[in-house]
Amino acid sequence: MMDSQLTRETSLLLGVNDVSPVFEQNAAGRSPFLLTSDHYGRLIPKVLGDLGLPESELVRHIAWDIGIAGVAMRLAQLLDAHLIAQRYSRLVIDCNRPPHAASSIPRLSEATTISGNEGLSREDTEIRRREIFEPYHRRIDAVIDQRAHDKRPTLLLSLHSFTPVYAGVARPWHIGTLYHRDKTLPPLMLKALRAEGDLVVGDNEPYAVSDETDYTIPVHGEARGFINTGIEIRQDLIADESAQQQWAERLARILGEIEARLYPGVSSG
Ligand SMILES: [Zn+2]
Repeated sequence: MMDSQLTRETSLLLGVNDVSPVFEQNAAGRSPFLLTSDHYGRLIPKVLGDLGLPESELVRHIAWDIGIAGVAMRLAQLLDAHLIAQRYSRLVIDCNRPPHAASSIPRLSEATTISGNEGLSREDTEIRRREIFEPYHRRIDAVIDQRAHDKRPTLLLSLHSFTPVYAGVARPWHIGTLYHRDKTLPPLMLKALRAEGDLVVGDNEPYAVSDETDYTIPVHGEARGFINTGIEIRQDLIADESAQQQWAERLARILGEIEARLYPGVSSG
């Protein structure tokens, strides 16, 4: 009885043919950097169909962070860092929004109406939160707890990508550092990225982090007192695998230098 009740309760959204929302790579990685990717995937639970959208909309930036998965996985490998990522589309539930925010389950994204998100009951929204948002953030919490317990440092790096043109306006930046309260990692990142010489670097561009518009950095980084920053890379620069590899290599080099500055005399290898 218990088992069938449990199964019924937990399969309201994700069925046997749906994968876990949490993707992890290199969980035993020894780097102080903990990589997260809230908009890594664009899966939709089978029971939600296509959310009322054509395929052409479901591959756009409104559904996920184009290109970031390839960068995140390569960066995790190069840094020997743990990556925790979320496989479902931000159109199902945005894992970098507080669940009470209107944009958590968007009915409109840029100029696209998401009909599958209209008229949701309170229970519908709670199920999405319970089956996708919460497992992802619980896992990040648990990993940070374990690292603290093991007396290992955690530098939280939240990886995103942004569309080159938003609402008709072209964005000049190649990469941006996004932050709010952290005074350690963002200035080091900005300095290192500017020193590259060939990059247009955004300082809290194309947008800044806030408690209302973000979740991962305020909750896992700031509220818990861990050094953190967000990174946003322009999507047209990481469109294919070789570009993703080049950006991962560049970021791994920069982050390795920052790690050496933060922990002088300590070798992570
Ligand atoms: Zn994102």
